[in-house]
Amino acid sequence: MNRCQACYKTFTTSFNLKRHLDSSSVCQDWLQLSDQNKQFIEEENVLNQIEIKNLKTDDLKCPYCHQQFSNAGNYNRHFDNSTICYKWKKYDILDYLQKNIFNK
Ligand SMILES: [Zn+2]
Ligand SMILES: [Zn+2]
Repeated sequence: MNRCQACYKTFTTSFNLKRHLDSSSVCQDWLQLSDQNKQFIEEENVLNQIEIKNLKTDDLKCPYCHQQFSNAGNYNRHFDNSTICYKWKKYDILDYLQKNIFNK
């Protein structure tokens, strides 16, 4: 199966998958992360409970895929619908927690 390991979209051919990765820097960047980080974020359910709203949301633009949203509702829904942006958000939250809480 030709599945993107970042956003979990499946593609009919490996060519389509490659084309997807070429055009999707959010997925490409995700695959560059260390396996340890990826595993932790994908398995860590605790982070699902944590909501840090307005983390980099000043202009209602997704900081990961750079999509622009007209209101905060659409913006927040984007993270329910986009696997890869949601994972990046968790990554940022984790990073934020490590810097601001765990290291104190
Ligand atoms: Zn992808
Ligand atoms: Zn996004």
